[in-house]
Parts: sequence; C-alpha cells; structure tokens
Amino acid sequence: MRRITILGATGSIGQSTIDLIARDPDAYAVEALTGGHNITQLAQDAIRLNAKLAVTAHPGRLEDLREALSGTGIEAAAGPQALIEAAERPADWVMSAIIGAAGLAPGLAALRKGATLALANKESLVCAGRLMLSEAEAHNARMLPVDSEHSALFQALAGEDMASVERVIITASGGAFRDWPIEALSQATPEQASTHPNWAMGQRITIDSASMFNKALELIEAREFFHLDPDQIEVLVHPESLIHAMVGHVDGGLLAHVGPADMRHAIGYALNWPERAPLPVERLDFAKIAQLTFRAPDPVRYPALEIAQRVMRRGGLSGAVMNAAKEEAMDAFIDRRIGFNDMARTVSRVLDRAEGDPSLLDADFTLDNVLGADQMGRSWARDDLPAVTGTGTA
Ligand code: NAD
Ligand code: MG
Repeated sequence: MRRITILGATGSIGQSTIDLIARDPDAYAVEALTGGHNITQLAQDAIRLNAKLAVTAHPGRLEDLREALSGTGIEAAAGPQALIEAAERPADWVMSAIIGAAGLAPGLAALRKGATLALANKESLVCAGRLMLSEAEAHNARMLPVDSEHSALFQALAGEDMASVERVIITASGGAFRDWPIEALSQATPEQASTHPNWAMGQRITIDSASMFNKALELIEAREFFHLDPDQIEVLVHPESLIHAMVGHVDGGLLAHVGPADMRHAIGYALNWPERAPLPVERLDFAKIAQLTFRAPDPVRYPALEIAQRVMRRGGLSGAVMNAAKEEAMDAFIDRRIGFNDMARTVSRVLDRAEGDPSLLDADFTLDNVLGADQMGRSWARDDLPAVTGTGTA
C-alpha cells in the first residue's frame, strides 16, 4: 500500500485527487488530509478514506473538527505548524494542493522527509524554486508537476535530451474575459472573473486565469522546474484548452501534449508515475472537435505576462514579492476595493519598490528569507491598496 497525504484536500485539486484514490482503496493508505474552513468536507473525506490525521489551517476551527471526528479515532489538529507536521508524517506521495504561498512551507517539509511531492501549488516554485529544487535533491525527494501545462511538458520531454530543446510553448485559454473589449475590463466584477470557459477550478486560480496572472506564475514555474531561459518559454492563447503544451526541438520538430481539460489526467499521471494507468477522463474525438484555434496573447490585455518577464529577468526573491503582492491585490479585488486592471498596477508598483531594495531581493534562498520577502510584498501591496473598511472585526 502506498502511503498518501493530501495538503489542500478540500479544494478543487484535492477533491480530484481523492476521486482518483477512492477508486482504488486497497492501493492507498491515507496518512493525513488538510483543509481550511470546510470542516464537514474534511471530516467526511477523512472518515471515508480512513485517514490517520485531519488538519484544518484555522486554529479557531479545531473544536469543530474534533467534534466532526469524535468517535472515529482520527486525530485532529489545526494551524500552520500542524500543517507542516502533517506534511512531515511518513508518506510515499504527498499532494501539494494548498492555494497560494501558504502551500510553500508544508510542501517543503514533505520534500525534506524525502517524499515524492506532486506539485499543484505553483506558488512554491514561483516564490522559492531554487530552494524547493535544492532541498529535493538534498533529501533524495522528487517533485512531479501537476499543473496541466507542466505535466504536459514533463510528459513530452520524457526521454528527450534537454540540449536539443529550443523552446517550449504553454497554452492559455485566455480566461473569462478573452473576448471582452479591453475598455470593459476595468468594470469586470469578481463574480464575472470567477467563471472559467473550460476548467472547473478554485476561485482564486480562476481569477488568475482571467487576468493571466495564472500564466505569469506558470512561466516562472516552467523556468524553475525545467531550467529554461525566459526567452525559451512562449505563451499561446488556445481557447479550446486541448493542447496543454508543446516542446520544440532544434530540428524544428514539435511534440504536443493533447488531452481533455480534466485535472485528473495530470494528477493521475503524477500518482502513477513512472507508469501509466487507466484514468477516468474523457477520450477526445478529433473529428467532432474539428478545429483547434490559436492566437498570440495581447500584452495590453494581459500585463501580467510582462510582469512575469520582469520577475524572470530580475530573479532572486522577486517571485516571492510579486506573488505576495498579487495575492493581496486579489483580496482587494474580491472585496471590491479595486478594479480588475488595478491588480496588475499594484503588483508593478510593488516590484518597482522591491527593485530598489537589492538586499531583500538578493538574500539567500532560505525559507525564512522567502517568507520575509513574501511579508514585505504583502506590506508594500497594502500600502498601495485602498484600506480595508467595514466592521473592523476581521
Ligand atoms: P482551492 O481554492 O479549490 O483549494 C485550496 C485548498 O487549500 C483548500 O483545501 C483550502 O482549504 C486550502 N487552503 C486555503 N487557504 C489555506 C491556507 N492559508 N493554509 C492552508 N490551507 C489553505 O484551490 P485549487 O484550485 O484546488 O488550487 C490548489 C493549487 O493547485 C493552487 O496552487 C493552484 O494554483 C494549483 N492548480 C490548480 C488547478 C485547478 O484546476 N484547480 C490547476 C493547476 C494548478
Ligand atoms: Mg495550469
């Protein structure tokens, strides 16, 4: 039996992971599941999968979790340190599917225990790629990409010589507003930004898809994971989301990864790697699909892409600062304190400020320094954003 832990089990990726392992209960022993406020879901899954431990990120919800698990013998815990301890429990395969920079420390803890880390949490690589990779190597651990584009690249690159790779292309659906007039974007609401044309995902990554910040993070993720130069990675808008990525070789040949827009493919690939096993995803019928379309991303519509180039050129801890500013700006957009276009403006201004502080950006890649850069990015973003108003009880 393989010992499995799922960080972020109650989210979109976590639930798809559970869907796969629940189909084969004799193959997996579930060590730990973690979640947030969704205590009912967390407890139900922990009971159904016979997990040893369930952890909520929120200390204030510990009693609720204990109550939901009472009489089951399943341990309950809460808070950021408990998430790290859950990740450190003995496991062969750990899914990193917490959203945002909050996923970094638990994922890193799993790597330090030598686990295979299935990495959905792209923010870990954006904030601390070098740290994640060096710790994986030092502890004989492995990271497998779960982001669909990066899983696609990983699959297309299997058995290839990286020296013959000229470029990689990652595709983008274009998100909720790809066909909106650019002038209308300033009026876009959080509800409108939270619907995705092709993928069913958590709210935050869906908004990031509308703004292309998701693709910006993925450019950095691809650079870190596959050791590519920034100018070797291209973004192509592909509204059907069926080609996930392509690898272009020096001889002009391209290998494309094609598949349905269902994250259970990439999750299942990482779960079964290095083998392949049958997965419950749709089989594509190309005669019915009839055509695939492509367009270049418009830099005016999607300023996040230029922000990614800037971060890749600057390097150091600029990814951690950028991601933190982006997370804060998204909170402000969701709260209706700023408009849709203001998110990229805030992130740019925070990067301006960070670039004036080389001692911050060029500090060593330790977890403390990365978390310090994250805190600085949040604080600068809050300086830039309209203050939170309201009840004052938050
Ligand atoms: P989600 O919002 O649906 O779920 C997030 C999970 O993290 C939940 O279990 C939630 O309880 C937990 N969580 C939230 N805040 C937390 C915190 N502060 N501390 C600890 N746990 C916290 O997110 P998702 O869409 O499943 O995305 C998860 C990760 O996978 C993200 O990094 C995302 O970029 C990546 N990803 C998602 C998809 C997708 O299809 N959803 C595709 C590619 C990559
Ligand atoms: Mg993706």
